[in-house]
Amino acid sequence: MFHKILVANRGEIALRVIRACREMGIRSVAVHSTADADAMHVRMADEAICIGPPPAADSYLSVPNIISACEITGSEAIHPGYGFLSENASFVQVVEDHGITFIGPSSAHIRVMGDKIAAKETMKALGVPVVPGSDGGVPDIETARRVAAGIGYPVLVKATAGGGGRGMKVARSPDDLEIAFRTARAEARAAFGNDEVYLEKYLGRPRHVEIQVFGDGKGRAVHLGERDCSLQRRHQKVFEEAPGPAVDAAMRARIGAVCADAVARIGYSGAGTIEFLYEDGEFFFIEMNTRLQVEHPVTEAVFGVDLVREQIRVAAGMGLSFGQDDLQLNGHAIEVRINAERLPDFAPCPGRVKVFHAPGGLGVRMDSALYGGYAIPPYYDSLIGKLIVHGRDRGEALARLNRALGEIIIDGVDTTLPLFRDLLEQPDIQAGRYDIHWLEAWLAQRPR
Ligand code: ADP
Repeated sequence: MFHKILVANRGEIALRVIRACREMGIRSVAVHSTADADAMHVRMADEAICIGPPPAADSYLSVPNIISACEITGSEAIHPGYGFLSENASFVQVVEDHGITFIGPSSAHIRVMGDKIAAKETMKALGVPVVPGSDGGVPDIETARRVAAGIGYPVLVKATAGGGGRGMKVARSPDDLEIAFRTARAEARAAFGNDEVYLEKYLGRPRHVEIQVFGDGKGRAVHLGERDCSLQRRHQKVFEEAPGPAVDAAMRARIGAVCADAVARIGYSGAGTIEFLYEDGEFFFIEMNTRLQVEHPVTEAVFGVDLVREQIRVAAGMGLSFGQDDLQLNGHAIEVRINAERLPDFAPCPGRVKVFHAPGGLGVRMDSALYGGYAIPPYYDSLIGKLIVHGRDRGEALARLNRALGEIIIDGVDTTLPLFRDLLEQPDIQAGRYDIHWLEAWLAQRPR
């Protein structure tokens, strides 16, 4: 096992990893920008080292600074958290070349899954159901017309290099195709410097359902069921739950086995998430994330496992501490993401937190790096906390969430907390009846 791990991240996820290290008797090293000298992850780690000025490009994204921090502190492994360098194959290659262990999959797996066409082809070949669409990139409008006619309208034009929902345009009929094709390409060129696009059938009312997988690095893999993350604003998840309200045990076992088998066959190592659109009982692969997800705690709650601990074990060559048969789904969990944002426009709202009181009690977990007096810096993501509740069933989890939302106090900055109190009163949310468009439609018709 490792003696010392460097955590190449900040905020709640850095704290999450430091907590796992502490429980495993591993020393942790925090890295921080000058803007984060007083951050909680710096206080909680065994050691801390400054890696640059506030802009992430010069600190949390600086490969030389992070590698140097590893060498100076004698860290044997790097945990990347999510975001920042976690899915950067070139970074992972540099880490590997320096003889440092990356806590995550190989750079080769990250590279394949980072290319949407390559990822889709790989998954399709492994027997994972994908959205019907073009075989690879579509070079010109004539080809696009032929492919779209074959798929059937509406179709979605998507950027190969896409991310964050950019470079994506719907064509409802043949008349829309040319403009959708041109604008998706122009957007992709501007955003990613790569204008290759491909075509997919556009699904009208899908849910976002993702499967948690784990490869042990020795050719075996397990799945830990699904999370429904359909409630999204601008492609950002807001509320996540496990199990998914639309998924039953037979479906879970079937799609879970397909996913576990796929990652086992490529020799995948560590945690991964296979994202699907789910409509009318069918799953359609959209992408694979080769890292720990923000919403991993809901899976931890219902399966009673520590996913970060398992990531560290697998990276150290010790394999998983459980097999598929040991995993028993228990109850229901929900996570809400608390952002420092001002409603109704979700404008980022950094500033000083005057009072912070975390909710508690049975089945309540608060993952946050906040403390009273902390000044949220303006340079980074606006996520300031995740509230996760666990109950024996969905009804109990909802009641517990409502109760916990009534306890939490964050004074001094505006947050998205009021949104969740309103959301819980919606009959559709209470019934688990929502798709990927539900939240935006609800927000659009709310009184401002
Ligand atoms: P990105 O990497 O840009 O986030 P994704 O492929 O993950 O792109 O898709 C982002 C979102 O776009 C999905 O969560 C879904 O809401 C929507 N989307 C993607 N593909 C389709 C599709 N074929 N039909 C309908 N909606 C889609």
